[in-house]
Amino acid sequence: MDAARRAQYLEALGIDLWRARAGAPGPLVARRAELTGSELAWRELEAEVRGCTRCALHGSRTQAVFGVGDPRAEWLVVGEAPGAEEDRQGQPFVGRAGQLLDAMLRAIGLARGNNVYIANILKSRPPGNRDPKPEEVASCLPYLKRQIALIRPVLILAVGRIAAQNLLESDLPLGRLRGRVHHFGELKTPVIVTYHPAYLLRTPSDKRKAWEDLKFARSVFRELLTEV
Ligand code: URA
Repeated sequence: MDAARRAQYLEALGIDLWRARAGAPGPLVARRAELTGSELAWRELEAEVRGCTRCALHGSRTQAVFGVGDPRAEWLVVGEAPGAEEDRQGQPFVGRAGQLLDAMLRAIGLARGNNVYIANILKSRPPGNRDPKPEEVASCLPYLKRQIALIRPVLILAVGRIAAQNLLESDLPLGRLRGRVHHFGELKTPVIVTYHPAYLLRTPSDKRKAWEDLKFARSVFRELLTEV
């Protein structure tokens, strides 16, 4: 991203590195103040998701899983859909895959609830953990898009094929989506793709490649927020 485009992007996110440099409140402070106005919209969206009956999955879920973390976070992690444990507890990534996701985040200095928000493409559990059906994604993706519009993350990390393909409207395999910066939506939020932690539990030999993806994401993030 060139300097002019970067300045425009950060301004759209409410992040002002230049103001920070001049001794005013730091970028995150400025952004937090600006975003308090969206708290009501966030609560309304959450209530809408919790009561959603747009697709058949509402009949089999225990509860909708809206997301977890700081809605003003600079990082957004997007997964696929709640599994059995997430459906029971009402939080994304709380099973074994969630523990690995937490470890992956820790490896790049992040923690659930601390400058990271975690959400899924689907808010309701597909029975038997099958892949989401296209009509389910079509019903549910607008919720994630509204979450993204309110959070305005600096960077999105898409974990797994389902998250990556649906966010990027691509049918390329995950292996071809990794290793480069994609962009999402009007703000052209950078998106980095990596493996789903459930896949990594089954295929630990690919953890090394996931580590490369995480370092890549961290470097893209740092580059965006480095003062010029
Ligand atoms: N897998 C996902 O993609 N999301 C969850 O919330 C849990 C497991």
